[in-house]
Amino acid sequence: MFPFENRENAAAITCTHVLKKGQPILYAYHDEDDDWQFLCGAEHGEADAMVVSLKEMYEHDPSIADLATLPMGMYAERTSKEEAWKQDS
Ligand SMILES: [Zn+2]
Repeated sequence: MFPFENRENAAAITCTHVLKKGQPILYAYHDEDDDWQFLCGAEHGEADAMVVSLKEMYEHDPSIADLATLPMGMYAERTSKEEAWKQDS
């Protein structure tokens, strides 16, 4: 079951490192507009950004289900894919 309260086609901003190069998601942000960012934690230029649906992101990495309760305006980080997410505002 889709774990997020958002509609499945909510916007998820990610980077080429995560989607194309298999880097782990280490930074997540749930913004005030109820959209999401899932990034690898490296520096990014505009050319690195990709927009997919939240559902595609979840299918790419089901471990983001742990972030389904992250409130808007909060971000979460982890130091590796094996670590638990740490939330902060
Ligand atoms: Zn990246």
